[in-house]
Amino acid sequence: MLVKEWDYAELAQKNKQYVWHPFTQMKEYIEDDPIIIAEGNGRKLRDVQGNEYWDGVSSIWLNVHGHRVQELDQAIRDQLDHIAHSTLLGMANIPAILLAEKLIGLMPQGLAKVFYSDSGATAVEIAIKMAFQYWQHKGKRKKQRFITMKEAYHGDTIGAVSVGAIDLYHEAYSSLLFSSIKAPYPYVYRSPINGSGKEQTDFFLAKLEEVLKAHHEETAALIIEPIVQGASGIIVMPDGYLRGVRELCTKYNVLMIADEVATGFGRTGHWFACDHENVTPDILTAGKGLTGGYLPVAITVATNEIYEAFLGEYEEKKTFFHGHSYTGNQLGCAVAIANLELMEKKNLILEVQQKSLYLAKELERFRQLRHVGDVRQKGFMMGLELVVNRDAKEAYDWSERIGVRVCRRARELGMLIRPLGNVIVFMPPLAATTEELDAMLQILHQAIQEVTEG
Ligand SMILES: *Cc1c(COP(=O)(O)O)cnc(C)c1O
Repeated sequence: MLVKEWDYAELAQKNKQYVWHPFTQMKEYIEDDPIIIAEGNGRKLRDVQGNEYWDGVSSIWLNVHGHRVQELDQAIRDQLDHIAHSTLLGMANIPAILLAEKLIGLMPQGLAKVFYSDSGATAVEIAIKMAFQYWQHKGKRKKQRFITMKEAYHGDTIGAVSVGAIDLYHEAYSSLLFSSIKAPYPYVYRSPINGSGKEQTDFFLAKLEEVLKAHHEETAALIIEPIVQGASGIIVMPDGYLRGVRELCTKYNVLMIADEVATGFGRTGHWFACDHENVTPDILTAGKGLTGGYLPVAITVATNEIYEAFLGEYEEKKTFFHGHSYTGNQLGCAVAIANLELMEKKNLILEVQQKSLYLAKELERFRQLRHVGDVRQKGFMMGLELVVNRDAKEAYDWSERIGVRVCRRARELGMLIRPLGNVIVFMPPLAATTEELDAMLQILHQAIQEVTEG
């Protein structure tokens, strides 16, 4: 890689002076020496000082093939020779059409119409509004509320936060939100009952059914992160739970929204997490990996049943009044097409499945670490829950910042990762080779061992 000479001190000073970083306590951050990324190549990032790091969380769960992938770079260059952006409000463009066709071909059977936006949160806002308005059009005006899972995360805009349930992120805004109904998520490691996967599934489905029984008449939709609840700590559902959720939603006439922003596009070892249990939601949201981690494009995909409820005469005002300036952006859609084509060409889904088995085997030795309480994995989504005491599953106190400290050590050892509280998240790009995964796991193991046992 050719790195242009940058003056690190000058950039750091300007960063401190002008930039407010997301999910970052700035008082602390500006005291520290920031990492300033200059380049990426394959599964590595390089900062302006020339240090190289593995991209251990795929630049926050986005990256698929790596950085500076020739096919993806070229797709953007080619599209630039035609046009960068024109609006999708009332008119169409070539990449947005072709991407929608491609997406419907990959989606769970029955999903039919693609609505574009630019982030996971906006995709969720759109899903909420669609579900809400669907019932209004259907004449079931009482169905206005949403059921969500405890500890769910669906993005940071107000609607998405209203169906979110992580107190740390969401409590400050509580008086600003619409209230949603919360159902317990099957967090098996800390389940109130002992028992096998099947018993857990049945227990939590029974809990959900109680909620649905009590609230279905006022409920428009249930929203769920299928198979893996991500931001709560990479929590994997027991088998059969998602299918059960689908059946209960149908039984109680509540729409099912599957938020696949994190899990979509191969991350869990299938194109979509819903594919693990042959589930078709009424609405599916996706983003993150869609463009291979290149540009901000997200989608909300609905069945024809939902779409058709919005059809009517102009005067009836059934139009879905929603859009964003960059909806259907050509550069983003072009790189998304290239990403999906490259995934197909490389047979990446199959590769992820094979490498996941390898990862599962390699993760076994993490279970021997004294402070690793739970090792969770589905495909290329992995979470290691650290505990003070394994037998009692005693959690580290927040003030100990155990996750932050482990990630800090990993950074010194050459890998960038970001924790979720006491859970160490490992989410390498899907195209990482087994040799690369080995190198990353080595750092992960060393960092956890040194910080928790040192
Ligand atoms: C990341 C995430 C979102 C929000 O996506 P943004 O692009 O950050 O707005 C929504 N839902 C889930 C499940 C996510 O993991």
